[in-house]
Amino acid sequence: MDNIIGIYVHIPYCVQKCPYCDFNSIAAASIPENAYIDAVLKELAAHIKQRPSLSKKTLETIYIGGGTPSLISPQYIKRLISSIRQSFSRANPPEITLEANPGTVTKNSLTAFRDAGINRLSIGIQSLNDRMLKTLGRIHSAKDSLKCYEYAQSAGFDNIGIDLIFGVPGQSAGEWAKDLETAIRLKPEHISAYNLTIEEGTSFFNLRKGGKIFLPSEEEEIIMYELAMDKLKEAGYHHYEISNFSFNGFESRHNLRYWSCMDYIGLGAGAHSYASSPDWGIRWWNESDPAAYMRHIQNMGLAIAGKEKLAKEEAWEEGVFLGLRRIAGIEMDWFAVKFNASLKDLYAHQIAKLRREGMLDEDAHSLRLTRKGILLSNAVFAEFV
Ligand code: SF4
Repeated sequence: MDNIIGIYVHIPYCVQKCPYCDFNSIAAASIPENAYIDAVLKELAAHIKQRPSLSKKTLETIYIGGGTPSLISPQYIKRLISSIRQSFSRANPPEITLEANPGTVTKNSLTAFRDAGINRLSIGIQSLNDRMLKTLGRIHSAKDSLKCYEYAQSAGFDNIGIDLIFGVPGQSAGEWAKDLETAIRLKPEHISAYNLTIEEGTSFFNLRKGGKIFLPSEEEEIIMYELAMDKLKEAGYHHYEISNFSFNGFESRHNLRYWSCMDYIGLGAGAHSYASSPDWGIRWWNESDPAAYMRHIQNMGLAIAGKEKLAKEEAWEEGVFLGLRRIAGIEMDWFAVKFNASLKDLYAHQIAKLRREGMLDEDAHSLRLTRKGILLSNAVFAEFV
């Protein structure tokens, strides 16, 4: 098992539910901050009690995501961070990220988050166009986002990421280009550019089914994605994962753990965890309803809703499709050591086919997506599962 660990904490509360959102989050008029943070810390203590060797690991990252973690008062975030850090004997020092919604922060709260130990801020800007923000049901304006960015800088954050979405109903390539240009002018260390996908169970899913909203065509989405790749590269960003770009040295260490099949523990309602051993690895996930999560923690210390042991073939597949998300691709030696198998032998047929189609590129050391493969990555991944 990995000697380094990442901790994810899920905060499942939001001011209101965005119509495209399928994250585990609920709109809450008030948040049981104290009880929820207590539950998260109790859960961590229960994991360590069950596996005492966990506390000997080096804590590399803490990622507080949601939902809207910036709704939690900085004093509770401070308690959360210091208790997590104290639970591990070694720290790297950790990258500690907080996701912030621009509609929920002030200059003072961002300063307090920084003082609480957050050293990386991920701001959910999504768009810098008010019409798009309205379509997305966001609670903030473009002006709020720009203010939030300015407050973050004056609070002393020197590792700021911003999230943007493209492919919004009614969005043109020109509007997306403007979003990118405004974002680039801010010079954040990290930019995530996600293509909007519509998931079953969301309001957008029903609206699209009823013919009330229309997404840009696949061709338009490809044009928007290429705009992101080209403009961000020109501005000095390094494209390191399908949806993620950063200045050198500012890649998300936490998310890189996911794409490298490294161990992490997810705490909180609906959080997922992964351990690379025993055998071919194990995944588990928590009760998603926050009240049920807290009740289970109160009664049993853990709130595990499901668990699965990976079969050998499943571990290989995950290694391939997570590894190929990284633009640097999969190192053959890494795959051989981790999975005790040769990537080229296991997937000779798929690799040959995708190379012929111009989607994959390989040399003696690694296998990676080509530009065409990046643009059509879902078709590439489908070949391996
Ligand atoms: S703020 Fe984020 S997590 Fe909350 S509903 Fe909107 S998209 Fe979902």
